Formats: sequence, structure tokens, C-alpha cells
Amino acid sequence: MSKDYYKILGVDKSASAEELKRAFHKLAHQHHPDKAGGNEAKFKEANEAYQVLSNKEKRAQYDQFGQTFSGAGSNGGGSRSGFGGFNPGQNGAQFDFGDLGDMFGSFGDMFGFGSGGGRQSGGADIEAVLELNFLEAAFGVEKELRLRKAVNCNRCSGTGAEPGAKIDTCSTCRGSGRVTKIQRTILGNVQMAAVCDDCLGRGRKASKNCSECGGEGIKNDVTSLSIKIPAGVGDGESIKFVGQGQAGPHGTPAGDLYLRVRVRADKRWSRSGNDIKTKLEITYSEAVLGTKKGVETIDGEVILKIPEATVSGQVIAIRGRGIPRLRSNGRGDHLVEVVIKVPGKLSRDQRKILEELAKEGL
Ligand SMILES: [Zn+2]
Ligand SMILES: [Zn+2]
Repeated sequence: MSKDYYKILGVDKSASAEELKRAFHKLAHQHHPDKAGGNEAKFKEANEAYQVLSNKEKRAQYDQFGQTFSGAGSNGGGSRSGFGGFNPGQNGAQFDFGDLGDMFGSFGDMFGFGSGGGRQSGGADIEAVLELNFLEAAFGVEKELRLRKAVNCNRCSGTGAEPGAKIDTCSTCRGSGRVTKIQRTILGNVQMAAVCDDCLGRGRKASKNCSECGGEGIKNDVTSLSIKIPAGVGDGESIKFVGQGQAGPHGTPAGDLYLRVRVRADKRWSRSGNDIKTKLEITYSEAVLGTKKGVETIDGEVILKIPEATVSGQVIAIRGRGIPRLRSNGRGDHLVEVVIKVPGKLSRDQRKILEELAKEGL
């Protein structure tokens, strides 16, 4: 016999189902890894022992052979899905922590979390799109958002308890927050620890629910929220505002708010990372002789010097006039691509001059 499941749970070999359950709850509470001073290894061990001993068939096998057998799970595969933490108790190694989460997972599920997610209880996250213009994204902006979402009930401050009500130990779970449920599996009925529906796992209950929210602790409302968008945010980027999502029911933590930024296109500028790109048309003679031209940057007009003998397609950088780097120092550049404009219709005088130039080989 590799492990003594009775010893692990601290019960007699003749322990009743009720005694096993109580012993397991006690240990599960004591060692739960989410708790300060919890012990994951001990918690797993207790869970493993309980999953076997709480099942009549498994317990009989275990008593007789010192181990358990099963069709589906005996090769180590196939035992994960649909069993919510049940494992045919072969050895601790393949009993990973992910399974244990299912035991308490239903708590989170009730509030709209995916079962594969973070297992935390509380309010859901909110995702919203925020449209910014080019300059708002470049330099950052403060915005006033109006959101319809779950907020904490004023009357009970989100606890769900009527002000002044007595808070008692939950009679359904006797304060443990967990109840045992029978789950049908292909291996027979398995006893599962589940979150107590009555107190939602808190183990304590108000003697009277809040008269305004009925004990939920939250209500839907339109709220306004002042937010700061940092300089340099880019199109498609998401900004997280911790705790600004849906308020959590029954005093649980609020979710987060994720704002996905959409930057509206601007005719004047295009953006490439932290650089801004524009085109500047100059004449052939300006390109040959050099000149000065005004360029509209996001800081206003800057006079750009076009050197002699500039070729079409040449890029001249105006340093530090690009987009500020997000949550950092410095800025990108404003890159000006010079395009030499070929005149369309020429006057007779212009044509004459150009013909003279052509004679000179220009
Ligand atoms: Zn309330
Ligand atoms: Zn309860």
C-alpha cells in the first residue's frame, strides 16, 4: 500500500461517509493553497484520499487491494474531463493542481467567468472601444467616460447585508462554505465538494438581505469615469484600468476595464511606430538649388531646410517631432519624403528657359 488514505484524513478504517466528509472539509480548509499558510501538497493529498474513500466502489477496492483501478483513467489519461477533480487515485504525480481548481470553480462560473480562466470570483471585466483623434493619441488626453455597469449598492456598500443585520454562520454548510454533492460519472457516483449555494462559499450569512439590492450587493447604473490616456498610445492597443469593470456581487472584487484604442486617421500625418511620415512637394529648381519650406508637424509649423541637390524620394528627418514614446522618454521623428513635382502646362517663357537649360545638359 503506497499511501494510507485513512491516516491522511485522520479517520478510522470504519469511518462513515459523514465522518470522512467532515475530516476532509477540515483538512481542505486548513490546507487550501489560496489561504495564507495553506499547503498545496497536503491539500492535494487530502483531496486524493477523499476522492477515493468517498466513493463506495473505490473504497472497497482500496480496502481490499490497497489501491484502486479504473477503466478510463488507468493509463493516466482520460480522467480529466468531466470529473471535476476526480482521479482514480493512482499516485499523486498526475493529479495536477488544475483539477483541484474545479472543486471550487463553480463559484467563479456563477458570475460569468469561463471555467478555464483565472478561477477568481468577482465582477466581470469590461471591454470597450475608445476612439481618439491623432493628436489625442500622440499627446495623451483625459476623457470622461460614461459606462453602464454593475456598481456597488449604496445601501449596503456592496455587502448585500441589510445595514444593522446580524451576520451568522451559514446553517447549510455550518460555516465551511462547502457542501458535498453527488456527481454521476461513468465510474459511478462520486461525492464532490462544491461551493455552498446558500452563503456562496463565504460560510457566513446576513440575517437579513439588503432591502435595496436583495442581497446581491450590486445594481446596474450609469457611472462616469475620468480616465487618463497616456501619450503615445497606438491604434489597436488596449489599456487596462484595474478595478473599473463590473462590481463584484456580494462584496467580491470588481473586474477590470479594458479600453481598446482606435486612432482616427488624419489627412495631415501618417504614423509608423513612433515616427510620423509626410510628403513634401518641391520644384525641380528647389531640389537642385536647395530651399527652405514650412512643414506642419504635430507641434505646429517647422521650417525645414532642403539641401542642394536633393533627389526625389529623399527622406529628411526632423528629429524629435514624432510621437512621444508610450510610458517612456523621448519622441520619434517626423520624416519628410521629398517629392519633385514636374510642372504640367508651361508658359511660352518657361518653355524657353527650360530649353536653354536642356542645352546646358540640365
Ligand atoms: Zn444592497
Ligand atoms: Zn453555506
